[in-house]
Amino acid sequence: MRIAGKVNVNDLPRICPLLSRKTTPRYGETQTRVVEVGKVRFGGERPVVIAGPCAVESCEQTLEVARAVKGSGADMLRGGAYKPRTSPHDFQGLGLEGLKILREASRETGLPVVTEVTDTRLVEQVAEYADMLQVGSRNMQNYPLVVEVGRCGKPVLLKRGMAASLCEWLGAAQYIANEGNLEIVLCERGIKAYPNGEYARCSLDLNVVPAVQAETFLPVIVDPSHGTGVSAMVEGASRAAIEFGAHGLIIEVASDRVDAAKPRCDAAQAISPRTLRRIIHFINTRQEGEPETHTTRWTYSAAV
Ligand code: PEP
Ligand code: MN
Repeated sequence: MRIAGKVNVNDLPRICPLLSRKTTPRYGETQTRVVEVGKVRFGGERPVVIAGPCAVESCEQTLEVARAVKGSGADMLRGGAYKPRTSPHDFQGLGLEGLKILREASRETGLPVVTEVTDTRLVEQVAEYADMLQVGSRNMQNYPLVVEVGRCGKPVLLKRGMAASLCEWLGAAQYIANEGNLEIVLCERGIKAYPNGEYARCSLDLNVVPAVQAETFLPVIVDPSHGTGVSAMVEGASRAAIEFGAHGLIIEVASDRVDAAKPRCDAAQAISPRTLRRIIHFINTRQEGEPETHTTRWTYSAAV
């Protein structure tokens, strides 16, 4: 029986010819294309750590968290100015004011900023303030938005749709590549599966990391915060992602001051700057021990 729309990894050379290893032999079977955001190198010598609040809520909160993540050793700052919320009655982000706060936090800390753009009409505005544009899970298949982001001239963090297959995800990346933009970093952020809501927010699909690496040369990072939804799981998920060969992590962090306001968004998955420091220490020490103790990349052949 043939099914309309059914694809598998054998179709990737047709779906994403600019990204598939089979159609781009210059990257061989294992090489990664380095994507640079300022001095930060995704797919470079060491995994990149992006950290910051879920949402930009105020100047004070963002500067405090930005300073803290910088102090913990993060490479880049995250924070949403435009938030795609399940309820239209929940905090939707500060918009343009949030972008200005992120710019200020970046200027003060020296950390480049990634932030989500949720609407085609906002791409130019977000590109003016951010060093990297994030396409969120809910918008991975919003192709007009993905194309517009591809045209903005900035590197793109393309999150995996929470119900997207590997082929659909790489197909979305091809929309960006078609605009002449190969500065794409992929991000696994958990998929919809049985445990949703029972003991975790999503199922963090670490299996996809080596699978992505087998099919394309684009760097791939992992979001252990949205992937678990539980702050106590974030450190373990981060370590596991690194062991799976992820080129980096994007992690939500909140202030650990006892009198700090509770985050208005995703409070249950935020970790403290101290936990972030431990994760980064793990990456750095593992990195030093790597030649004798670990082989990060292994050969993966997709089953079809
Ligand atoms: C985020 O990173 O702020 C976010 C909303 O994540 P996702 O799109 O993966 O849900
Ligand atoms: Mn969040």
